[in-house]
Amino acid sequence: MDRANSSNCIGPKCKENSFYCVSLCPYNAIHIEPNSDYMVLGDPIWTPDLLLATWYQAETGESPLSIEYQIGDSGGGFDKLKFKFRKESSDGKEKENIRTSIELNKRSYGARIEISVPWYGAGMSFGSISLNMMLARAKASQAWNTFVSTGEGGYPEELVPYKDHIITQLATGQFGVTEQTIGYARIVEIKYAQGAKPGLGGHLLADKVTPDVAIIRESVPWNSLFSPFPFHSVYSVEDHKKHVDWIRAMSPNPDVLISAKVSSPTDVEMVAVGCYHAGVNIFNVDGSYGGTGAAPDIAKKNIAMPIEYAIQKVHRFLVDEGIRDEITFMASGGIRNAYDIAKAIALGADGVIIGTADLVACGCTRCGNCEAGRGCPHGIATTDHELVELIQPDWGAQRISNLYYSWHNQLVDILWRLGFDDIRDLRGAGLSQKYEEYGGKGLLQSG
Ligand code: SF4
Repeated sequence: MDRANSSNCIGPKCKENSFYCVSLCPYNAIHIEPNSDYMVLGDPIWTPDLLLATWYQAETGESPLSIEYQIGDSGGGFDKLKFKFRKESSDGKEKENIRTSIELNKRSYGARIEISVPWYGAGMSFGSISLNMMLARAKASQAWNTFVSTGEGGYPEELVPYKDHIITQLATGQFGVTEQTIGYARIVEIKYAQGAKPGLGGHLLADKVTPDVAIIRESVPWNSLFSPFPFHSVYSVEDHKKHVDWIRAMSPNPDVLISAKVSSPTDVEMVAVGCYHAGVNIFNVDGSYGGTGAAPDIAKKNIAMPIEYAIQKVHRFLVDEGIRDEITFMASGGIRNAYDIAKAIALGADGVIIGTADLVACGCTRCGNCEAGRGCPHGIATTDHELVELIQPDWGAQRISNLYYSWHNQLVDILWRLGFDDIRDLRGAGLSQKYEEYGGKGLLQSG
């Protein structure tokens, strides 16, 4: 698995082939067994194959030939849903005109912002990840004409050159949020909750609060920082509207877009309508499987709804209310690859928000040690001065860009095989009865 092109090896399954290297070797020098590293990687959601496939795409920009890169092994949700394709995969030229861009603002007010791919980067704060990792994500976002959120931890000056592609996040602790950082942004994101740990707020343990982190967060080095839950100024839709109006009043940009990020409670569709009436441009539902290794497992698996259920609930309700085309609906929390992106859109989202996959592209193994001690041994979720050097911004940006390139090609292929020439036509098509050619039940099936 760690040699050039060795990922093309199909393992013992090759035994039936006439060219099986093990039986052909005249010196009996070859044997095949699973790599022991592979055996301890991942979990049912991010399986060893999905991790390897993401690394492969980040390295090459291509889809792997013999690694499962489309589904995990959870036995439910995106891993159970399949597309009913109409055509076989092809490299045909007709794919060139397929559109993958989406609008981030459907309101009559605010900037018209179109991103070239139907995803942008989730908030990961300075402190939870390194500055180099933030820069890598910002550079990749600029290259793909999309965005990445600062997360709650301030806006390092090094990010300012990329400000046209950076979302300023305002969360409950309001760490590092100033009029200046609101002023940088074309989009401001109000984070009410995170799907991986709704009701728990945020936490950055003392070991990661280095002097640099403390300065930008206006706190004290080596002291744990907790973001409360909820915003103690927001207990109703009216309060929420005041928040939205406050940001619009404070921003020097009269066209600033406001996004609201919420978790996925069972009545999430009511929250969506509330956000619409409060005037937000982007509504972001974060499902239960998002988050880095810092979110406790007990919360991740037991509190919020998986995103697959939440998306179609919100989409259908917004359609019934007659406001679906006035708000951009982004889904996050457990989106791992291009197939998950396409399925989320087919269930009713306009686009998705990516977090963990960016980190995996840069070598994250999902070991879950993000919060421990000096943080990530790979230099991703750490603020340790030595460890951060393991990720250089240009290297990381190239890895993430390669992954996006591979995803883009896969998305175009999915659209082509489904018979669409615009990703916007895919929205909700997995549920819609109007796709008679797919048997009248939409183009997603379970099984
Ligand atoms: S590899 Fe690093 S970023 Fe990934 S889960 Fe482990 S500690 Fe966190």
